[in-house]
Amino acid sequence: MIVGATRWEVVTGDITRSTTDAIVNAANNSLLGGGGVDGAIHRAAGPDLLAECRTIGGCPTGEARITRGYDLPARYVIHTVGPVWSGGGRGERDLLAGCYAHSLSLARHHALRSIAFPAISTGVYGFPKDQAARIAASAVGAALRRDPDAFDLIRFVCFDEAATALFDAAVRDVACTDQ
Ligand code: ADP
Repeated sequence: MIVGATRWEVVTGDITRSTTDAIVNAANNSLLGGGGVDGAIHRAAGPDLLAECRTIGGCPTGEARITRGYDLPARYVIHTVGPVWSGGGRGERDLLAGCYAHSLSLARHHALRSIAFPAISTGVYGFPKDQAARIAASAVGAALRRDPDAFDLIRFVCFDEAATALFDAAVRDVACTDQ
């Protein structure tokens, strides 16, 4: 999918292998590592990533912080903290949209041209995957409309085919509405 100057794609795979300028980590508030994609990113980046994360002092839900990528192919990691799903009445949707918006704005301020996102909050944090996909796509679509030349590539990396199908459909909806 091409939106303005940006290639926007959905792939199935392991985000730690992504060669984009930055990969996004679905971290927790401490930024000190965890399971799921967070654990995979720390394992692949090596111990220097945790050392840098310790200097940051945590991150509020819905915001993002940037570190170097160390042993990863990506030069930077953008750590964002998705909301824990607790039924949808605690601002979870806006917080999740904030994760995507803040990550893209950090990337732009560092002049990074390509970025890969996992399906934030859809693992142990329990966000319904179909809603998470629509929120992710509409947040990225809004950022692209505001700033059409900021990125060359935005990639959603899903861990399984079912999530890929949901994210793919959500991206097509947003991208087609924009044409
Ligand atoms: P959260 O706590 O935000 O829910 P999780 O890491 O538990 O974060 O899961 C977020 C998503 O990342 C899930 O859909 C999970 O399947 C996926 N995931 C786990 N490992 C990887 C990986 N190496 N690459 C891409 N996605 C991954």
